[in-house]
Amino acid sequence: MNKKNVLYVKNLNKTYSKDSSKSTLALDGLNLEVKEGEIFGLLGPNGAGKSTFINILSGTTMKSSGEVSVWGFDIDKNPRQVRASIGIVPQEINVDPFFTPRKLLELQAGMYGIRKKDRITDVILKLVSLEDQSRSYTRSLSGGMKRRLMVAKALVHKPPIVILDEPTAGVDVELRGNLWDNVKSLNKQGVTIILTTHYLEEAEKMCDRIGILNKGRLVALDSTSNLLEKIQTKKVKFTVNKKVNTQENLFSSLKILSNNENYLSVIYEKSKVNMRDLIQSIETQGVNIIDISTDDGDLEDVFLTLTKN
Ligand code: ADP
Ligand code: MG
Repeated sequence: MNKKNVLYVKNLNKTYSKDSSKSTLALDGLNLEVKEGEIFGLLGPNGAGKSTFINILSGTTMKSSGEVSVWGFDIDKNPRQVRASIGIVPQEINVDPFFTPRKLLELQAGMYGIRKKDRITDVILKLVSLEDQSRSYTRSLSGGMKRRLMVAKALVHKPPIVILDEPTAGVDVELRGNLWDNVKSLNKQGVTIILTTHYLEEAEKMCDRIGILNKGRLVALDSTSNLLEKIQTKKVKFTVNKKVNTQENLFSSLKILSNNENYLSVIYEKSKVNMRDLIQSIETQGVNIIDISTDDGDLEDVFLTLTKN
């Protein structure tokens, strides 16, 4: 069955200009489609433009140019329908500490004009595993619980698309797992998920497809498994007798993890660099290679290779 696109982005640009002399190109010709029912992950280093993108979707940042439609609605022509179609969990936690989770969700539902009898407060509290805390002051909740409350707030109007910006940032390891389970179960109920994250291992586990953003441009866009297969990386650690000069040409296509008197560790794409050339260019510097150990790369290495410098 052909699933429909729930997000369509064409040639999206965003320039922030502080004054006429200094401007930042935060999104540079972004093209993207997300299909119904997917978990789509947008990855990228700090400053890549992830939050800018999400803030454009949520209507808190204006795009400079390009097309965006959400759930079939154009963001310029039907901003209200776009907002009704998405639930956004922003990067910053903002929940009023003096309300209980239940009260906060009721207020949020009120803001969306949802009548009392149509509210699903208990269902949502259960989904994010906050039933037991529903009547505690929010200020007494842990960071992970507050984050889950943010997710809950995004769900009151039953949006078909939920967008989470770095949902697990600052959440400790155990609670992170809990949050991901919540997101998975939401997805099982048919909700399309778009998320940004720094935790690549989790992106690898969670996401059906991944886009990697660097300096406002997509440097990769594929299914998680294709991405790992296509961009085959290798991690190599050379034990050496002196420091390698990495200013040379060949090294510019590698991601250098560490380089000192004893070791040189690099990641490279198998299709771009060959091990024999690498060894040769080290040895022609008069450096002795004492030992070599290699590892097949994971998503983290793919990410580092694609977003180097
Ligand atoms: P990410 O979420 O991937 O870390 P952001 O979208 O926050 O990236 O930032 C992308 C770029 O845009 C960065 O260079 C950042 O400094 C800049 N930027 C973000 N928000 C603003 C703003 N309100 N005003 C000016 N520049 C901004
Ligand atoms: Mg961000």
